[in-house]
Amino acid sequence: MLYTDLNSAIDVGASAHLIELDGIRVLADCGMHPKKIGREALPNLSKILDDTLDFIAISHAHLDHVGALPLIAERQNFAPILASEVSADLALRMLRNSRNVMVRQREEQGISEYPLFGFEQIDALKPKILPFAFNRPRAFEVGGKRIEIEFLQGGHIPGAAAISFETSKQSVLYTGDISFNPSQLIRGANIPQKKYDVLIMETTRGSHDRDAEHSYQNECARFIENVGRVLRDGGSVLVPAFALGRMQEILQLIKNGRKSGEIPHEFPVFAAGLGIDISEYLLRQSRKNAGVSFDKTAYELIQPFRGEIVPAKDFEKKGIYIFGSGMMLENTPSYAAAAALMDHPQNAIFFVGYCDPDTPGGRLLKKAKGDETFVFQNLGYIARVNCKVDKFDLSSHADRQDLINFALRCDPRAIILTHGSEESRNWFMDEIIDLAPQICVEIAEPSASIEV
Ligand SMILES: [Zn+2]
Ligand SMILES: [Zn+2]
Repeated sequence: MLYTDLNSAIDVGASAHLIELDGIRVLADCGMHPKKIGREALPNLSKILDDTLDFIAISHAHLDHVGALPLIAERQNFAPILASEVSADLALRMLRNSRNVMVRQREEQGISEYPLFGFEQIDALKPKILPFAFNRPRAFEVGGKRIEIEFLQGGHIPGAAAISFETSKQSVLYTGDISFNPSQLIRGANIPQKKYDVLIMETTRGSHDRDAEHSYQNECARFIENVGRVLRDGGSVLVPAFALGRMQEILQLIKNGRKSGEIPHEFPVFAAGLGIDISEYLLRQSRKNAGVSFDKTAYELIQPFRGEIVPAKDFEKKGIYIFGSGMMLENTPSYAAAAALMDHPQNAIFFVGYCDPDTPGGRLLKKAKGDETFVFQNLGYIARVNCKVDKFDLSSHADRQDLINFALRCDPRAIILTHGSEESRNWFMDEIIDLAPQICVEIAEPSASIEV
């Protein structure tokens, strides 16, 4: 098998993997780098010539996995786009929103190459999508060769899949983003015990371990308790959260907290933008799809936020503000809201997902309360970190030990480590070499093809 990682660096970045299996060419995911701007954020699509792909397969609808899909799909007339039904719907919503954000960035920040695609390119994806149900393999014939493709429940977020590709000669499993534990919204990954020749594995959480004290359940409980305390003490809580998956999970937790009496009922829950649309979609899905559970009571907590956000001017209404982005990136509602809340000691900013250390969220988490300042460069404002800042480990990625156990169970000939920092990938490499020296472990250089 020939494998090429099209992400531009060894980091979490833009997920895009070119897999060539017995002459059949598959692109698994085609994401956009969340921290880069303009064409820099794209994976190296120049490695793929026009009309040379046989399939484009999408693991899930986060933009770091689908953000560049319109740009590759328009050059591949013969490649169907394979995705779970939920991921296909969500991907189209995410891409429409991404196009709107790019238009705004062009106006506000003068990024002249934006938008990288328009609505017509997004609409052109729809007829190419071939929806897959989980655990229902499909066989295709390409150039006289047979390939069987199967989507397996990957946990992580609604619709997320690990995808297996099998020819007469070899089998490959691409994990996408994977989580083995159930969350408030979905069950954990369900991958039947089977041997794969090659495993292409995400490594998001390789750089740190989770101790028992910070189990997912404990972190959920701690979140509810802390939100309740801040509200009762007269503050507001900002929860920077991804619109897809994390926002709905937080809503479910707030619903639970209200039910148990830990979160007082009288405080409103505000959300902004895309998350509201995604919540409405997931509510509809949860009525007909056993794999998604998002309650009406949780959905009905949402009040769309329509106020103005001014640095240093605390929100008038005390409550919970669930705003994108999860890493508090510049020019997002959570970034602006942080500038409004940070100076006021009664408020809190609670992170609930991974924050890259170079993002504003990552920078804020390194600060100590009270004696430090935080620069909001894009707003021309310097705040004192007076509010409470905390992080709750509600990650929807598998813990590293679970991933290692899973990898060993697959008993592959080779493992390709991807979608994680260099430190993360190195941890996995050392661990696997220690435990199973017969497995060939690879960290592929960006855009360099490797034979495994
Ligand atoms: Zn993801
Ligand atoms: Zn990802």
